[in-house]
Amino acid sequence: MTDCLFCRMVAGEIPADVVHRTDRVLAFRDINPQASTHVLVIPTDHHPTAGALAEADPALMGEIVAAAHAVARQEGLVSGDGAEPGYRMVANTGPAAGQTVHHVHLHVLGGRDLGWPPG
Ligand code: C5P
Repeated sequence: MTDCLFCRMVAGEIPADVVHRTDRVLAFRDINPQASTHVLVIPTDHHPTAGALAEADPALMGEIVAAAHAVARQEGLVSGDGAEPGYRMVANTGPAAGQTVHHVHLHVLGGRDLGWPPG
């Protein structure tokens, strides 16, 4: 049994509030939301970081970015072909950025004004 939390969610061993799923991508609501929309988008395969995934399987990196955009549209954060009202897509990488789960995940955040620069 893997000790990767997100691999265990993919396997259904730990419950997740799933909003989108394909064979290769899973999206679920963050357990500690930082905005009214806060969804995590992950590949079902284990890769530690966004950079590692992009190097190992660039097509899959594209799939999780497209899934994040589809989730944002589903959540009312993208209108038509545009990008209104907008959302933020974040991939924390490593301890300096606060990455706590070492299975790549894109945060999709929206539904409030998001400050810049981030903390
Ligand atoms: O980017 P980082 O690695 O810090 O993000 C991990 C995210 O996973 C956190 O936002 C945390 O709330 C979320 N999480 C979750 N369900 C868990 C454990 C962590 O949604 N069971």
